[in-house]
Amino acid sequence: MKVNQAEFIISAVGPGQYPQDALPEIALAGRSNVGKSSLINRMISRKNLARTSSQPGKTQQLNYYRINNDLYFVDLPGYGYAKVSKTKRAEWGKFIESYLLKRETLKVVMQLVDLRHPPSKDDQAMYTWLKHMNVPVIVVATKADKIPKGKWQKHAKIIKDELGFDRSEPFVIFSSEMGLGKDELWELLESAIGW
Ligand code: GDP
Repeated sequence: MKVNQAEFIISAVGPGQYPQDALPEIALAGRSNVGKSSLINRMISRKNLARTSSQPGKTQQLNYYRINNDLYFVDLPGYGYAKVSKTKRAEWGKFIESYLLKRETLKVVMQLVDLRHPPSKDDQAMYTWLKHMNVPVIVVATKADKIPKGKWQKHAKIIKDELGFDRSEPFVIFSSEMGLGKDELWELLESAIGW
């Protein structure tokens, strides 16, 4: 995929603000700080289009980025803030669920996890829910540069085991820092969109 143009479109707080042009959408899910903004920036070869500091309070906003005139990256609010109240977590759940289940142009979800650590309870719940709802998902393990290459497969196995990962599906080892996994991920995304 050659990215000629990438543009921030909107922080949408409800369906009324979602784009109407029916371009395919690729959503990013993951806990806050897992590297969603960095991954977007790396995928489009920009340093700073996606903001690399998500705001904890913003539990209900979808950040839309348009790539060429081809597709949107939709950055979902990060989950797993310990400090967020139960009410806020419930709101987050409803908001995200309805986007993931009802958005017809959504083609695939990239679920980001940190390659260094076993998946959190939230990571597990998210993956289980996506599979249960038959939402296509690509698991992306980020920050690979932070551990030695010799340990990647061992860490990947722990993540897969603990997620209950469906081994017939794609699992990408990624580093925004190094650009590792970028081409592989673009290929998977293109095929998820049906190109
Ligand atoms: P977000 O909250 O999921 O959008 O996470 P960010 O993209 O803002 O990343 C959180 C922090 O992790 C930032 O300090 C990033 O620079 C760092 N980070 C993200 N991805 C990587 C990576 O692949 N390698 C390294 N070394 N740091 C990363």
